[in-house]
Amino acid sequence: MSAYEQTVVLLARATAFTVVCQACAELEPHGEYVGLTAQGTLRLGHDLGWTTCPRGHRIRVIRAGEKDDGLFEHGHDYPAGARSANFA
Ligand SMILES: [Zn+2]
Repeated sequence: MSAYEQTVVLLARATAFTVVCQACAELEPHGEYVGLTAQGTLRLGHDLGWTTCPRGHRIRVIRAGEKDDGLFEHGHDYPAGARSANFA
């Protein structure tokens, strides 16, 4: 469902991440954390990817700029609601 399209932003050098699936958290607000998380990887040099949570919701992954402080310096137009991932 497009209503549950999610986007997470990775830091420039992050290659692995864990993120809570908001769609699952909404379906199961009292569920165990581990059951609500999606894990994924994004190779260095790649700046766009996808991961899928255990229930099959797709989560879009975009990489921030090369510089640590580059998140908002390169003219990227991050979608509303984009959020940072927790890094594995
Ligand atoms: Zn999910």
